[in-house]
Amino acid sequence: MATKPDYKRYGFIPQRQQGLLLMRLRNRSGNLTAADLRKMAELAERFGTGEAHVTIRQGIEIPGVKEERFEEARQAILDAGLLPAVCGLRVRPVVACPGTATCPYGLVNTRALSDQLDRQYVGKDLPAKTKLAVSGCANACTKPQAHDIGFRGAAEPVIDQELCVKCGACVKRCPAAAMTLDDDGLAIDLDTCLSCGVCVATCPKQALAYTQVGYHIYIGGKGGRYTNTGECIATFVAEEEVIPYLEAILAAYQELADKGERLSKVVARVGLATVKAKIADKLSG
Ligand code: SF4
Ligand code: SF4
Ligand code: SF4
Repeated sequence: MATKPDYKRYGFIPQRQQGLLLMRLRNRSGNLTAADLRKMAELAERFGTGEAHVTIRQGIEIPGVKEERFEEARQAILDAGLLPAVCGLRVRPVVACPGTATCPYGLVNTRALSDQLDRQYVGKDLPAKTKLAVSGCANACTKPQAHDIGFRGAAEPVIDQELCVKCGACVKRCPAAAMTLDDDGLAIDLDTCLSCGVCVATCPKQALAYTQVGYHIYIGGKGGRYTNTGECIATFVAEEEVIPYLEAILAAYQELADKGERLSKVVARVGLATVKAKIADKLSG
C-alpha cells in the first residue's frame, strides 16, 4: 500500500469521514485582506464543501477536500499566495492580538513581532508541537500564559510628583489597586502593578510616564486536556531583544526535551531553575 503524504506538515488534517481532509490556512497576526478572503472562498468552492470554519487559533479551515486532490490543493494554496497552516511536531501558527495597531490598550507593536515570528519560526521542527502567542498588554487576550512560549506587552509607570495635581483619576482606574494617594503624594506598588499602562493613559496632566516598555516572556503554558499556566521568565524585554531570547529558549528546549515532550513537561521534569539556567547559558553563548 502506498505511503500517505505527511499531510500535517502542509496543514492538512484527515477528517473523521474516510478519504476527506481539512485544509487549514494560516495568516499573519490574524490579518486577512479582502483579496485573501476572496481567494479562500475560491479554494473552499473549488476543493471543499463551499464552507469554511474559523479556528480557535485565528486560522481558516476548509472541510471536504478529497485525499486524491491533496497535491493539487496544496499547490493551489501556494499559487494563490496564501499561507498553509502547519501541524505536527513543530512551531505552529502564531496567535496575535492587534496591539498598538488598533487597540486602545496596546503597548507594543504585536503585529511586527508576530509577523517576524511567523516568517522565521512557523514550521520549524521541534521535539513536540510548540505554540506561540503575542498579546499587546496585560489583558492578555491571546492567552500568552497558556502557550508553550508567550509574549505580552508590558509598561512600567513612574510618577513625576511635580506635575501631579492629586486628582485621583489614575488611582480609581488602576485595575490592580497598586496606587495610593495621600498627603505625601501618589505612590505605586510595583510588586502589585500589572504593567498595564492604564494609569499613564488616564492622567490628564502627563504626570505619569513609562520607564520601560517591552514584553514579559512566559514559558511552559498549555491549554487542552491538561492545562498549565506558563511561568514568567523575563520582564520588559525590549522588542529588538525578543528574537535572541526566543532563540535561546528554543535551543534550551531542544537540548532538554525528549521526543514528543512539550515545554511544560520539560519544566515539570527538570525544574524551572534548570530550564532558566540553560536559557541564560544560550543567551550568553
Ligand atoms: S491584549 Fe491588550 S492590546 Fe491586545 S487586544 Fe487585548 S486589550 Fe488590546
Ligand atoms: S500600570 Fe496598571 S496596574 Fe500598574 S499602577 Fe498603572 S494602572 Fe495600576
Ligand atoms: S491622574 Fe495624574 S494628576 Fe491625577 S493623581 Fe494620577 S498622576 Fe496625579
